[in-house]
Amino acid sequence: MQRNRKNRSRKRKPAVRTGRRTAPPVLKSAAILVVAIIFILIIIPFTITMVFTSDSQEGTKKENRDPGAQPEETITDTAAVPKTIRVQREDSGKREKIEFEEYVKGVVASEMPSDFEEEALKAQAVAARTYSLAKVQNAKKNGNSSTHPKAPVCDTVHCQVYQDKAQLKKGKGADWMRSDWEKISAAVEDTKGQLLYYDGQLVQQALFHSSSGGKTENCEDVFASAVPYLVSVESPYEEDATHKKETLTLSLSEFSAKIKASYPDISFGTIPSGGIKILSRSSGGRVDQMRIGNGTVTGKQVREALGLYSANFTISTGKDTITFTTTGSGHGVGMSQYGANGMAKEGYSYKEILQHYYSGTTIAGGS
Ligand SMILES: [Zn+2]
Repeated sequence: MQRNRKNRSRKRKPAVRTGRRTAPPVLKSAAILVVAIIFILIIIPFTITMVFTSDSQEGTKKENRDPGAQPEETITDTAAVPKTIRVQREDSGKREKIEFEEYVKGVVASEMPSDFEEEALKAQAVAARTYSLAKVQNAKKNGNSSTHPKAPVCDTVHCQVYQDKAQLKKGKGADWMRSDWEKISAAVEDTKGQLLYYDGQLVQQALFHSSSGGKTENCEDVFASAVPYLVSVESPYEEDATHKKETLTLSLSEFSAKIKASYPDISFGTIPSGGIKILSRSSGGRVDQMRIGNGTVTGKQVREALGLYSANFTISTGKDTITFTTTGSGHGVGMSQYGANGMAKEGYSYKEILQHYYSGTTIAGGS
């Protein structure tokens, strides 16, 4: 893969004096005066300008040249990425010990389209690494998930999808391995060991989703509790997102049957088309509460019952039908992957992408 790195070293040539002059004493002092005036008129204002502009230039240069340079924050959590991670594999039913950074590569390859921009892939690498390490730490403290009691992470959507090189080669082909796998490997290696921190602690929930539809969600509006770095932010560059607008039309009887089967504890009664209403929305635009017949459910519950792309939807009812039009794809919390790719295309770095979607976080660690 070709990578463009700007050569940022700027060498300044020292001024070289050429030629020598001798002049009579009177002319000499006149010349000194002229030089002094020129100095005052040109050099001093120039110096002042330099002083005032050098701060911002320095800031930009630092940002570009040294990815490790950031506002100082004390990292109290001294977590380091372990050499290996134990992964519960779905196909074999076995646990596998995998080299940690290789595991991150397999996650990025499975969770993000490989034709995404390099900075988006790097952002995904840091998010995936952070998410996995948090799982490992949590499992040490509180035990493994009951879904996979013998390993801290699994290779499905329950944790993060992971495929090893053999699986990827089988699914995507040898050409893909030569080009795209190498691209992903480079994105992971360029961010080796780097993790997301909030308030000096490792970020526990580096959540991500496919596309938000324009605005991400507050964590508490989708999941149980509020998380300070998972707050609703604009996601303006999602033009290329798949599933931007999807519609699903069901007959009223189909809809009723699906909702009632999914939530048997709620007594909906008969559900007339006039009895279906969106009651409230979250700050990110997803349906919060919805009335269906005599029952009230969340947008998330409706999404799950019907398999909608997102809970950001509008409804329109006909005499015997109901149509859902969804915006975006996924739960909408944390980093929008298509939004990240859009930001990368606009020239944002992976750190800027991460800090946009995970508010108030710092990237640290790595070699
Ligand atoms: Zn899992």
